Amino acid sequence: MMETTPAHRVLVVEDEANLADGVKFNLEQEGYEVEVLSDGRSAVERIASGEDPPFDLVILDLMLPEMSGYEVARRTRASGNYVAILMLTAKDDPADIIRGLEEGADDYLTKPFRLDELLARVRVLLRRRRWDGVEPRPEANAEIHVGESVIRFDRFSIETRNETFTLTTREVGLLRALVDREGETVTRGQLLEEVWGLRPDTKTRVIDSFIVRLRKYLERDPSAPEYIVSVRGRGYRFER
Ligand code: CA
Repeated sequence: MMETTPAHRVLVVEDEANLADGVKFNLEQEGYEVEVLSDGRSAVERIASGEDPPFDLVILDLMLPEMSGYEVARRTRASGNYVAILMLTAKDDPADIIRGLEEGADDYLTKPFRLDELLARVRVLLRRRRWDGVEPRPEANAEIHVGESVIRFDRFSIETRNETFTLTTREVGLLRALVDREGETVTRGQLLEEVWGLRPDTKTRVIDSFIVRLRKYLERDPSAPEYIVSVRGRGYRFER
């Protein structure tokens, strides 16, 4: 490979020792720096330890001793930490998956999974994070003005007159997908595929709940949106 990248730091939170070892070994073969923890409470503490450089990605099992993966994700986000989170779930119930995404996970993988698929997801998440503004593309707008607010892609925030909202990786991804096509309708299928890595025909309300949140941050009257406009039966359009 021509490309050289600094080693990304990955935290694996998984209580099945064999699986954790296999994941660690394979990530290390790919050049990542890997640390493993086996319960939820230590994971929250470790992520919050403020070590520099911070983790780039947390691979988080859902069913963990001490504290569930949902709770780890929720507390991590509540503390203002926007590290990429890939959730591992033994349940393929869409409600569990969506709850994981809503608690702040950026992506999920259903167990049992193939290690090559895990590695592919890890690469996509780290790359998307770069696109989304943590490591911005040179040509992408770092900030745009919307009414009296400013979307700061570089800071993962929306600053309004009175408040600053911190955005998750996925919220930034969704905004980016809409803003980069200002004035054009972006279909639900495109958003599911580009922002969540889901099949375009996936039946989920996950987009709707994210749109509700973004409107709450950005719109003067979220029930009569001016900027993030619904296009009935198709998707959404960003206008200003
Ligand atoms: Ca487990």
